[in-house]
Amino acid sequence: MEVCYQLPVLPLDRPVPKHVLSRRGAISFSSSSSLFGCPDPRQLSQRRGAISYDSSDQTAVYIRMLGACVIFKQLFSRDVRVRSRVGFEPERRGSHPYLYIDFRILHSCPESVGPVCSRKVRRLLSFQRYLHCSRFFRGFPPQNPLYILDDDYTGQAKCMLEKVGNWNFDIFLFDRLTNGNSLVSLSFHLFSCFGLIEFFHLDMVKLRRFLVMVQEDYHNQNPYHNAVHAADVTQAMHCYLKEPKLCKSLTPWDILLGLLAAATHDLDHPGVNQSFLIKTNHYLASLYKNTSVLENHHWRSAVGLLRESGLFAHLSAEDRLKMESELGSLILATDISRQNEYLSQFRAHLDREDLCLDDAGHRHFILQMALKCADICNPCRTWELSKQWSEKVTQEFFHQGDIEKKYKLEVSPLCDRQLETVADIQIGFITYVVEPLFVEWARFTDTRLSQTMLGYLGLNKAGWKGMLQGQAVSGDDTDPAFEENDPDTLPQESREL
Ligand SMILES: [Zn+2]
Repeated sequence: MEVCYQLPVLPLDRPVPKHVLSRRGAISFSSSSSLFGCPDPRQLSQRRGAISYDSSDQTAVYIRMLGACVIFKQLFSRDVRVRSRVGFEPERRGSHPYLYIDFRILHSCPESVGPVCSRKVRRLLSFQRYLHCSRFFRGFPPQNPLYILDDDYTGQAKCMLEKVGNWNFDIFLFDRLTNGNSLVSLSFHLFSCFGLIEFFHLDMVKLRRFLVMVQEDYHNQNPYHNAVHAADVTQAMHCYLKEPKLCKSLTPWDILLGLLAAATHDLDHPGVNQSFLIKTNHYLASLYKNTSVLENHHWRSAVGLLRESGLFAHLSAEDRLKMESELGSLILATDISRQNEYLSQFRAHLDREDLCLDDAGHRHFILQMALKCADICNPCRTWELSKQWSEKVTQEFFHQGDIEKKYKLEVSPLCDRQLETVADIQIGFITYVVEPLFVEWARFTDTRLSQTMLGYLGLNKAGWKGMLQGQAVSGDDTDPAFEENDPDTLPQESREL
């Protein structure tokens, strides 16, 4: 199909910006930016905000503060002391596209600024938190009514963590109870539970800082590919790591890699798919030669944060490189376009009954399969949880489709809200992608959990089919949850959250 561009066609093989290549040995830690709030697809190529800097732990934390401090200068016309450091390039770190957006909001309503103690705000750790807070100070009602939490909520979150191995674990509730910090809280808890902190002699402050950086580098404005999805995948991974077959053979190294990969597997996801990045000539597509573009970016971003945090600085260089390489191999396995490759390999092993978990290579392969299962396990959850995930992912697809239509780009499959419904997408996804994988997983480890997952999968598929039939009978094929919106506006907060 011929693609009609209204925009000037950018040259193919657009060179990767030098500052990206030179940064940390060509690690593309700068963001692919976010689609949401970005008025023009070309800006996805131009907004590669990042900070070139000499990396040290303190500096890393400072960068996160910079955006908030700059805004506070504008907001309160008060000099907020910012430590400066020679060699900084004061570019915006792209994983915070809100910075760009929020500047506009702030400039548009200076009169609404009320008195506030900037000291209080300087205590804030994350940009995301700053944004919530700034809305609050400007008199906007909190979008999340549970934003200000007391000890009751912390207590409830702790109670939930005691059942973190339960397949019915409600990550949405946990995220609310932890004030949007589900990924940090859950991952830290699991590192502690598995004894990884003691075994690897991890500095708890560095670990926490690393996890905060990971959480912040997810785009919270993405309806689906955000830190809650990462927390959900990490929780599922935990359930799989506890399966008897894996539990008795996995080493602390394997568990560490499995949890790290789950937490970082979608890091800095822009909320659009690879084909969008290719057709808008995004530099990440040329950097990774149009192959596993997003997965490569997630991996290299994770490596960037690992190095930045110094979490494993005490390990040998050889071990650190091994860790980075294995992390890459796990994250790259989540590329859904390579699903059949992994599935046939898995099937062949199961047919030959030759998987030997004493073998490090085989254990690594099982970790890859476990991560793949964890990544697409939404339809294997209870209907209440599964339905929320389905709506969120569809919302993200449709938003991409809206942008593609607006700029006369070919609309990607599943992204056209006029042609698709949540139920259709889910039935296809379950039938062709999820079921085949989980059937093999149950062959590998035929446990109560595997059977539970297959059970929910069947029920959810039937549920979507029922909804489809109901729509056909009533003649209503539109879902009010997915009414068309202006593709330039930020998506509304999820109704459930
Ligand atoms: Zn994912």
